[in-house]
Amino acid sequence: MKNSGISAFPALSPENFPFVHSFANLPESFYTRLNPEPLPSPYLVCASDSAALLIGLDPSVFAKAEFIDAFSGNRLPPQALPLAAVYSGHQFGEWAGQLGDGRAHLLGEVQTESGPMELQLKGSGQTPYSRMGDGRAVLRSSIREFLCCEAMAGLGIPTTRALCVIGSDLPVARETVETAAVVTRMAPSFVRFGSFEHWYYRDRNDELNVLADFVINRHYPQLREQTNPYQALLAEATKRTAHLVAHWQTVGFMHGVMNTDNMSILGVTIDYGPFGFMEAFDSQHICNHSDRLGRYAYNMQPQMAHWNCHALGQALLPLIGTVEDAQSALACFSTEFTNKMSELLHAKLGLRSRQPEDGELIESMFALLQASRADFTLFFRHLGGIKVESAVNDELLRKLFPEHAGLEAWLALYRQRLRQENSQDEARMAAMNACNPKYVLRNHMAQIAIEKAQSKDFSEVRKLLTILQHPFDDQPENNGYAEPSRDDAGNLEISCSS
Ligand code: AMP
Ligand code: MG
Repeated sequence: MKNSGISAFPALSPENFPFVHSFANLPESFYTRLNPEPLPSPYLVCASDSAALLIGLDPSVFAKAEFIDAFSGNRLPPQALPLAAVYSGHQFGEWAGQLGDGRAHLLGEVQTESGPMELQLKGSGQTPYSRMGDGRAVLRSSIREFLCCEAMAGLGIPTTRALCVIGSDLPVARETVETAAVVTRMAPSFVRFGSFEHWYYRDRNDELNVLADFVINRHYPQLREQTNPYQALLAEATKRTAHLVAHWQTVGFMHGVMNTDNMSILGVTIDYGPFGFMEAFDSQHICNHSDRLGRYAYNMQPQMAHWNCHALGQALLPLIGTVEDAQSALACFSTEFTNKMSELLHAKLGLRSRQPEDGELIESMFALLQASRADFTLFFRHLGGIKVESAVNDELLRKLFPEHAGLEAWLALYRQRLRQENSQDEARMAAMNACNPKYVLRNHMAQIAIEKAQSKDFSEVRKLLTILQHPFDDQPENNGYAEPSRDDAGNLEISCSS
């Protein structure tokens, strides 16, 4: 990670945070200003040096009391202007009405070389949008969100970042009694599709307009020049969402709760709950235990992302003008998704060119994975190690397949395709290793780290962070972390409770 911010703010500490406030300058109907609730006897669980460097914060402050005080919400930096934002959304396809930051406080934004970065506490106490919730987040889900944010960043996938997790012995009741934690998230903006829906469904076009102008001026200034900037906003959000989901599909990431309140207007992955990474491949896998109908199953994600873009288009309709204009902005989803998938899959397969018959090669690869339930991550990683003209390196790959006939038949096609473009083994392996991760956040790994953390041993959380920040590196000393779970814990469904 480039140490870019430090020179800009040499004396920066949590005490002296150069917060500025854009969202807080919107009219008051967009949020409620209030302080986080104090977190009793807080302690540092883990912090991300690369996230800190992005905002010009020197990681040496992690050990200081001011850091823990600031990011537990107990003693905020003087320039913080904490607020909880209001939004609404469609949950599992149904209009859910008003939601909002029920357990999150936006502190303000830091100007970085790559633009504004907002800092938000999550699990920091009740707000007017808590509905029946206690405003807290448990250590378990906070560690999962923290690690996955940083793992996705390591994978090069657009995401909110996570600065730190601060724990406390405060009891929090879920299925069992757990303890509380606060995770500090960072993103240029936390505005969601549901932030627009909120005003649309209340017939409040003035606020809708204010919000759209705010997002365009701050995050998409180039769209101002377009004839219809709101239509352009929808097209841009649709395109980014299509690209994001293509990234998810190609690393086997399943979000678990793709409700419109969990979709970022910037097209970054946001709100990590019962997510999962595909292990034994099953295109219909559902990672969220509460998603009985499989609305957000792996193979449904593209369609559901498109559905969400439609919901955004509906909400922006009063600004866009006509249904036709909204539809034409949404129309890019399929081509953007398909092209991005094709680009990413070609890279994953180490193919430099695109040929008409590649669709068949890719389809038969997915059919093979489905039939054999091979580990999704290791399949691509080991595929990178094979040679075109010899099977000497096929062993690792074969081990993933209980039955070899299908694999051998597919490999014959694949090798033929590699020969066609005169693919060189070493160069292809280097290119494939740079885009096929060796390490992803497998559920059983997160679970072990969580259990240790629950008895105050944070070493495993910290170890996973360092591994997952460099998922493409070989790290031979960490080979065990590349392995699928031994039992069937891999494709566990995770409970929504957090
Ligand atoms: P999620 O499904 O986590 O994206 O949350 C949906 C909505 O429920 C959001 O408005 C959250 O702020 C709210 N929420 C979830 N858990 C809690 C909680 N423990 N306390 C208050 N609000 C919550
Ligand atoms: Mg949410």
